[in-house]
Parts: sequence; structure tokens; C-alpha cells
Amino acid sequence: MERTTVDFGIDLGTTNSVISVSQGGNIETIKNGLSEITPSVVYFDKRGTKRVGLEAAEMLSRPTTALDVQAEFKRVMGQRVTHEFKSSGKSMSPEELSAEVLIALRQAAGSRLGSEPGAAVITVPAMFELPQNGATAEAAKLAGFRHSQLLQEPVAAAVAYGFQGDTERAYWLVYDYGGGTFDASIVAIRDGQLTVVKHAGDNYLGGADLDWKVVDESIRPALMQAYSLKSLSRSPKARDVDRGRMLVLKRFAETIKKRLSTSEEVEYFEENVFVDDDGKQVDLEGRITRAEFEAYAAPSVDHSIKIVQKLIEESGIPKASLDRFLLVGGSTFIPLVRQRTAALGIPIGMELDPMTVVSRGAAIFASSQRIPASLAKPIVVAVGAAKLQLEFEVVVRDTEPFVGGKVEIDGKPAPLGTVVSLRRSDKGWSSGDIQVDSKGMFFTSVKIMDKGQS
Ligand code: ADP
Ligand code: MG
Repeated sequence: MERTTVDFGIDLGTTNSVISVSQGGNIETIKNGLSEITPSVVYFDKRGTKRVGLEAAEMLSRPTTALDVQAEFKRVMGQRVTHEFKSSGKSMSPEELSAEVLIALRQAAGSRLGSEPGAAVITVPAMFELPQNGATAEAAKLAGFRHSQLLQEPVAAAVAYGFQGDTERAYWLVYDYGGGTFDASIVAIRDGQLTVVKHAGDNYLGGADLDWKVVDESIRPALMQAYSLKSLSRSPKARDVDRGRMLVLKRFAETIKKRLSTSEEVEYFEENVFVDDDGKQVDLEGRITRAEFEAYAAPSVDHSIKIVQKLIEESGIPKASLDRFLLVGGSTFIPLVRQRTAALGIPIGMELDPMTVVSRGAAIFASSQRIPASLAKPIVVAVGAAKLQLEFEVVVRDTEPFVGGKVEIDGKPAPLGTVVSLRRSDKGWSSGDIQVDSKGMFFTSVKIMDKGQS
């Protein structure tokens, strides 16, 4: 069946990614193997064997393979950095790693529905700006999507909760506490469109910090006493073996943390997780109560609440005008987070699963978006040996749409240092020099004239 609307929504998360589809008025979150949640994790071993998602995350359970795993690359999206896989020496950019995750989701959708989607709405944090958005759009292209549209995560969450266009004066707050970052956004209808009116956050406040607290406060001190582990550290300067061991401990700590969301106390025992410096097998054994965990977690949770209070104050919107407070992201399962957010006194929305809600909202939005008819024919301009290929949507709603493209010289991607400059024919606007990336690609926004052509 040829689709005329985009229909697929992807939450490309720092920690986990999810794909949903809208079909016949229903939203289905698609399983990748056994789970709807695909960890945003990539593994390459010595021989170049690739694993993505859960199978890659499982490689974090052994110190020997943990350094062949890359995760949390979304943090550096749009930056010119590469991630190196230890054993193979292979290095990849954040957009290439993100593309691997998108490919895994496309394949999961293909195996569920019979053919892989060619178009999707992909969500991005409210704080993403042009470079990060451009890198996300490029990742979609690398993953084989012919058409992709970006949507802000808090907008997607509000769509999933049914924020309607007829509620002109409603304000909702989206509290998104994930694995890597914390984001708070106020959304409302502006000019008929659901928009983020103000946002705040902390790029380094997430569930992963809580895992590290469990390691540092509870697991590590006990191990240091019982075993010969002189330099157990996660500093980038630490020995590989110690960094690998710390990643194993962090993964284990995460399972303990999650169990504490349902149990008041967890007793754990895990044999032979690695060997110590004397070659002795190390067992993890201990007990941790929810109260202890809450003591470690409270400063982080309180910090998130302060960010929300400041956001509300600075927005000038009276707290009483905030109609809903949506709990989004896996860390909102933590009972302490539920308590502290409820204490703010804004009606809480938590009916939808906080880990799939963003992708569901993206799929709902996607069902209203037509796949542009012009997709198959990008505009190509050739001057001598140089060829410029431009891609954009023919009809756009705002006056600063995105334009992407690729420059080739003699049939090869233009080298780094090549610049592209776009100018409006009335000379009222020009882009300045835009650098191409290592694949000769670039991405920018242009200022066009309202209701006009330029
Ligand atoms: P992201 O937006 O960063 O991709 P998610 O919304 O998928 O993140 O949330 C992942 C985080 O949620 C991880 O830190 C994970 O440990 C945490 N998490 C998931 N389930 C639970 C739970 N039941 N209790 C506590 N934390 C949880
Ligand atoms: Mg998220």
C-alpha cells in the first residue's frame, strides 16, 4: 500500500528510541524483538560485527566488550566529534551512530508491517538548534528515509495527551526526565499551532546520574573493601580495564534502581561479574533500601523541580493557568519524582507510558502530514565539475524552512572547507558561508518571503 501521509513517529532518544505507526485511526508502538524500547546503543567488535539496540546494550555487562559500545551520542549531535570503538578502531560520527539506531527501528517496522517506512516524523529536544536538527535530518537520510520531518519532543508528548487546537488559552507543562537529560517545557497554541513557548533544562541531569550515584555510594565502596581493585575509576584517564568494570557496575546499578521503583528494598547477588587485580572473581552482593536510594537521588530530583519553578516564574504565566503537568521519560517512574512533582499542585498527567508517549505523539502528528509529492526529484544545479543538489519542501508553512543539500565535485563529495552560500533573488537575505560536512552535505534554514516565491 502506498502511503500518502507520513504515519510513522520516532522518538530518537539519548538513552532509548521508539517507533510508532498510525493506522486506521489507531496508534501502535512497534516492538523491536521483544520490546517496544530500543536502547540507543551501537556495538562493533574486533571483526567489525555490528549490533544495535538491546543486543548492543547487553555488551555492557562484560568489561571486555563494554568499551566496544557507544551510547549517549545524541548529546553531541551536530558537533564535529567522532566516537571510537576500542577493539576495531572504527570511528563514527553522532549522525552515523544515530542512523544505525534509525535503521534498527525501520527494520523493526518493516518486519511488523511488510515494508520499511520511507518517511517519518522524528522528535528532537526543544533545546536543539540548527546544527543538532541538521544532524538529525542527516541521520534520517543516512538511514534511508527519503522524507523526514522534525517535531519537538514536548509538542509530541502534548499531542499524545490530546492537546487540541481549540483550547486557545490552555498552557501545559511537559516534565521530561529521561536517561541523559532533563527538559521542562511550557506548550500552548500560538497562531493555530502547538508550540513550545518557553523551555529550560539541564543537559547533564538524567537517570544515568542516579545509576552512578548507586555505584559510587553503595556498590563501589563495598567492592573496594572486599577485593583488590586499587584504581577502580571512571575517569577518562583511568585504565581501560577500570573503565570497563565501571560500565558493568553502572548497568547493574540501573537494574537495582528500577527495582526500587516497585520495591521498598532490594537484595542483590550477581556472581563473577569480572576479576579483580589479583585474578579473583568478583561477586556483587548487597542490599539497598528505597530510603537510601532516595537520599542519593533527592538532590537531582530537587534540582529538576527548581528548574520547573524558575521556568514558570520566568514565563510570567500564573501557576493556576497551567492546566496539566505531563510526566514524560523513564525516570518519572521513580516514586520520589512522582511525589515531588505532585507537590507542585498542577494536575498531573501520567496515564500514558512515559517511555513511549513521545513516539506515539509523533505518530499522531505524522498521520496529519502529507508526504510531499516532489520527493523523488531533488533540484540539481551543475556548474563545471561542481554539482549542487538541493532538497526542500515545495510548500511550507513558516517563512524560515529548512533546506538541505549535497555538493559534489567530479562526482565525489566536496572536501571539508567547501562552502555554500544561498541568496534570495531580491537580495533581501543571504545565508553567508555554510560549511559542508565530511560527506559534502549541509543543512540550513532560509528566510523566504511570506506568500511569495524567492
Ligand atoms: P531518554 O529520553 O534519555 O532516551 P527514557 O525516557 O527512555 O530516556 O528513560 C530512560 C531512563 O529511565 C533510564 O535512566 C532508565 O534507567 C530510567 N528508567 C526506566 N524505567 C525506570 C523505572 N522503572 N524506575 C526508574 N528509572 C527507570
Ligand atoms: Mg526522551
